[in-house]
Amino acid sequence: MPLLRKLILCALPALLLASCATPATRSSSGRDYWGHRPGPKGFKTVIIDAGHGGTDPGAISRHTGQREKDLTLDMARRIRSELGGGFRTILMRSDDTFIDLDERVHRANRHGDAILISIHFNSGPAHVRGPETYYWRVDSHGLAVRLQRAMSAASPAESSNRGLVRRRLRLTRNPETPCVLLEGGYLSHPAESRCVADSQYRQKLAAAIAGAIRDQAVHGDAGTGPLPRPLYEPPSRPTDAPE
Ligand SMILES: [Zn+2]
Repeated sequence: MPLLRKLILCALPALLLASCATPATRSSSGRDYWGHRPGPKGFKTVIIDAGHGGTDPGAISRHTGQREKDLTLDMARRIRSELGGGFRTILMRSDDTFIDLDERVHRANRHGDAILISIHFNSGPAHVRGPETYYWRVDSHGLAVRLQRAMSAASPAESSNRGLVRRRLRLTRNPETPCVLLEGGYLSHPAESRCVADSQYRQKLAAAIAGAIRDQAVHGDAGTGPLPRPLYEPPSRPTDAPE
């Protein structure tokens, strides 16, 4: 059989199989487009995204008057200082400015060998409280487990551990780097919002988050349980559910 024909015959089934099983696994940068791989280890850069900002205040606590956008920026700064010199840290925003979510993804993609942590505080029914961690990608699961464990341990005993939520958001699906979105507590809960208003508590939470990041850098996914199944969904769009 002529070599060319042989190559085509051999390669064709593999190509067809590949196109059915894994639609586009590589982005233009060569990194795994879907994040279907084990979590990061030994990374050097931590991108800290303070949620909301500028014209977008996020949630506002009716108990303390505090705005989510101010608390997330405060937390981002505290996490950076808790991480110390062990990492190159990048703040997505360092003042009270609005940055579109797609622009945040675009900026995060400039950095290789990085993880992205997006900081938020929650709002919901008055009785609901406790930290929560959102992730989507397989390579972000171990990091999400570590961060949720750490926040839960740092929060008051009466707070519920709301656990991990696998949700396709622009900051959990779209970046080319492992990424998680943290909800540090409910501003709508009277006691939890007063807790979050206390700078000593925020420092404790920031130290816990920094510790989880360090653990992930040293140990990778070890001890964080089995990886979740891959999910093939398109990037999140502004028209998807609210973030
Ligand atoms: Zn938010």
